[in-house]
Amino acid sequence: MESGLKVLSVKRFASRHNRPQAKLASDLGEAISQEDIAVHFQPQYELCSGRAVGVEALARWVRLDGRITPPSSFIPVAERFGMIGAIGVSVLYQACSTLCEWTPVERNAPLLCVNVSALQLTVEFAAVLAGILELTEFPGNRLELEVTETSRISNVSRTALILAQCRRHGVRIALDDFGTAYSGFAYLAQLPVDRLKLDQSFVQAMENNRKAAAIVRSVIALGSDMGIDVLAEGIETERQLEMLTVMGCPHGQGNLLSRPLPADAARDFMNRPWGLRHAGGLHAA
Ligand code: C2E
Ligand code: MG
Ligand code: MG
Repeated sequence: MESGLKVLSVKRFASRHNRPQAKLASDLGEAISQEDIAVHFQPQYELCSGRAVGVEALARWVRLDGRITPPSSFIPVAERFGMIGAIGVSVLYQACSTLCEWTPVERNAPLLCVNVSALQLTVEFAAVLAGILELTEFPGNRLELEVTETSRISNVSRTALILAQCRRHGVRIALDDFGTAYSGFAYLAQLPVDRLKLDQSFVQAMENNRKAAAIVRSVIALGSDMGIDVLAEGIETERQLEMLTVMGCPHGQGNLLSRPLPADAARDFMNRPWGLRHAGGLHAA
């Protein structure tokens, strides 16, 4: 998946920098070549019915001693040291392969959502994506790419073109962490977008903060007016779930419903009916 040469050059580059980040980058280069970057999956639900309708793939760095390093610690390093492309390909390939192994009833086949850094969106990206879809035989219309609003999109029109190429394979595009960047509305206007992922900071604040609740309500209305799906991230309490349902938010995910899980556990979770949530079923993760 990753050319050995590229990882080697990262290690040489990192070794010239006597900084903890450079050591982390060197270890990360090693981890990529040893295939130590794993993928966990967090179920996503249709809020009005309680049906599990998708999963978000989340990268995990599994250390030799079994400890797991979260992506917030290594994705920025991967972006800085030119390794994000290799991680992206590895995550996409693993996630598509894993979901192909799941055998749900076809009409319940879940959407697969994969995070993509803006730095991954190079001119070759759509071709690489098409290659992975062909290799894994994963249908493009079950894949969604989540582009983080806060990641630097240096050339918006070029990014729009690359995302449009991806969409020709049936792939959907989501704006992740929506509401957190000043440029969010500009991206929404210029990029081909199928879904807004409402940032968890608003969801978690809205119980006690009227401004946050107003923002959540507005984003749901915005999605509805634009014909764009909305998914609320980071649902942690019954009250948040209830508020979102009353506001008409179509989709949600969060630790209340299910934490991110290794593939086998996530697949079991996807097959459990929503009613089990009230019996503690979904909390059990
Ligand atoms: P994200 O894409 O917004 O993913 C949601 C994050 O919120 C995940 O953190 C998830 O574990 C966490 N989360 C889910 N439900 C809850 C909840 O109820 N409460 C709280 N407090 N947190 C919740 P995680 O896995 O640590 O990932 C952090 C970020 O790292 C992701 O944010 C995404 O931007 C990035 N990331 C993860 N995997 C990848 C990847 O494969 N490629 C790229 N480029 N970025 C990735
Ligand atoms: Mg995401
Ligand atoms: Mg997010």
